Parts: sequence; structure tokens; C-alpha cells
Amino acid sequence: MPLSAEQQAEIDEQRSTPTPTLRSVAPGMEQHLYKAAPVLDHGFVRVIDYMGDDAAICQAARVSYGRGTKSVQNDEGLIRYLMRHWHSTPFEMCEIKLHVKLPVFVARQWIRHRTANVNEYSARYSILDREFYIPAPEHINAQSVVNNQGRGGVLEGGEAARVLDILKADSSRCYDNYEAMISQDGQDGLARELARMNLPANVYTQWYWKVDLHNLFHFLRLRADAHAQYEIRVYAEAICAMVADWVPAAYGAFEDYRLGGATMSGRALECIKKMLAGEEVTQETSGMSKGEWREFQGILNDPA
Ligand SMILES: Cc1cc2nc3c(=O)[nH]c(=O)nc-3n(C[C@H](O)[C@H](O)[C@H](O)COP(=O)(O)OP(=O)(O)OC[C@H]3O[C@@H](n4cnc5c(N)ncnc54)[C@H](O)[C@@H]3O)c2cc1C
Repeated sequence: MPLSAEQQAEIDEQRSTPTPTLRSVAPGMEQHLYKAAPVLDHGFVRVIDYMGDDAAICQAARVSYGRGTKSVQNDEGLIRYLMRHWHSTPFEMCEIKLHVKLPVFVARQWIRHRTANVNEYSARYSILDREFYIPAPEHINAQSVVNNQGRGGVLEGGEAARVLDILKADSSRCYDNYEAMISQDGQDGLARELARMNLPANVYTQWYWKVDLHNLFHFLRLRADAHAQYEIRVYAEAICAMVADWVPAAYGAFEDYRLGGATMSGRALECIKKMLAGEEVTQETSGMSKGEWREFQGILNDPA
């Protein structure tokens, strides 16, 4: 169960007692506020608080451009201009605070994004729940043969069953031993901060994660990408859905220029110019390595 009964009661309570405010609110985000979007088997992501909206981005941009914004009158046009030209600070005027429940191995990837503020559940202070990420059968894959940092085809039949059995048995045994070590029945009991080291990386943790919109877009660009590991990508996709409702114009620009767009090298652009002029270009004549050429072909065939 992603949410405990206490957490659900807290959410219901928070949503049932709205308070008036003079601050501007984003109606799309109000729909999400406090609610948990389930992710993976026991995880979730939910918005605890937010600040700003599309208008806040434009307001900040107009401070810097002043009269110059006459040429980009409407807000959506201005936001697209800012995104296109990497004028990022107006996006930093919006902030979001998320409560995330996620497996520790996903948290290790997530925490690499240093431009957020984090407060994590203390497994020194509290006892971790008996909750482990066990992939759904369709997400038990073989090692990829083309990408050392990825997965290939789905494991079938007996092999998939054997892997799932190992994951479940090890998780269960580790947790049994964790409980046995911290237990004070007839013994002193090992400190929680030490006993936790025996738990596997698929155990769930929780944290509050606060970040501004510019850095959130950077996170989403990397983690909602098809190359990101599935287990973090699903969190990024859940956040994308919230951000699309929160700041529709900014998210639309992000989706177009970053998620749907592509960065090309000078050599790649030269190749495109030659192709448009009717010239045949091959990997050998492109000046690109085999890997670059493969990625270039990928962009031409499917920019997303
Ligand atoms: C598909 C994929 C595979 C990866 N594989 C690996 C891997 O094998 N091993 C591994 O260790 N990591 C790996 N990473 C993590 C990656 O290298 C980055 O650490 C992570 O994506 C965070 O990116 P970031 O530093 O740009 O983000 P943030 O930490 O959020 O920083 C955002 C930006 O702020 C600036 N910034 C922040 N802190 C500093 C600083 N101290 N100094 C200078 N500039 C700073 C940079 O411009 C940075 O781009 C992988 C990431 C992805 C998406």
C-alpha cells in the first residue's frame, strides 16, 4: 500500500480545510495539492506546497526586459522565448515541494541532482517499514547487449520466476534479520543506525524534496528521458503530469524545446545542410564516430 492510513487521513484533512489567501494560486496545481500519485509498487509522489505560476515567470522576466517585452506581448510567447534562449532565472521564481516515497536505489540516482533541498526519513531514529520494490514481471529484463547501461528483452517463464523468487526471499530474510537485530526481547538490541546496513537497496525510503522550476526541468529532462532507468523515469513522468497542470505554458515550452527537441553538434548540422542540398552523407563522410552517427540517425528518425 503506497499510503498508510494515517497519511491518507492527513491528506483528507488538509484538503477538507482550505484557507483563503491573497497569493496567486495555480488552479491546475490545487487539484494535485497533498494527493499522492502512486508510483511503482509501494511508492508515491505528492505535492506538499508550491509557489508561483506561469504569470510569476513572466512577471520576473518583465523586470529584466522592461519595455523590451513589447515584442513578445503574450505570456506564452514570452515563456517560449525564455525557454528557447536558455534565459533560465525567471523559471527559478517558481518552487515546488514534493513528498516522495521511493526505493533506496532510485533515491541514489535522484540525490545526484544537487540543486534541490532534501529532508529524508531517518532510519537512525525510526524503524523502516517492511516494504521492498519487487518489479512487475514485465519489468524484469535481461542485460542489454547494445547499451551497457540498460536493459534488454523481458525475461520469460522460469527465469523470470526464479529472479522474482530470489528478490522476494532475500528482501524478506533481510527484513526478518533487521527486526531480529533491533529487537529488545531478551537482548540489548542493535542500534537502528547499524541494523539498517543489512537491508537491500530495494527497501523504500521517503523524503521531502524542494526545487525550483528551472532545476526541476533539468531533472525531468534527464529522468523522464527514454534513456533513464525505468524505476526513476516513472517518478519523473508522474511529476511531469503535475507540472503540466501547474504551469501549462512553461511545461508546454519545456515539452517542445527540451523533451521533444534535440541538441546537435556542429558536424551534425553540417550533415543536415548537405542532406538538404541533396548530397549523400554516410557515417564515413560525416566526421562522426559510429556511436555519434547512430545517435544522429536516432534523432532524425525519432527526435523524442
Ligand atoms: C542516463 C544517466 C546515466 C548516468 N550515469 C551515471 C553514472 O554511471 N555514474 C555517475 O556517477 N552518475 C551518473 N549519472 C548522474 C549524472 O552524471 C549527474 O550527476 C546527474 O544527472 C545530475 O545532473 P546535474 O549535476 O546536471 O544536476 P544538478 O546536481 O541538479 O545540477 C544542475 C546543474 O547545476 C550545476 N552544478 C550543480 N552543482 C555543481 C557543482 N558542484 N559544480 C559545478 N556545477 C554544478 C551544473 O551546471 C549542473 O548541470 C547519470 C545520469 C543520467 C541521467
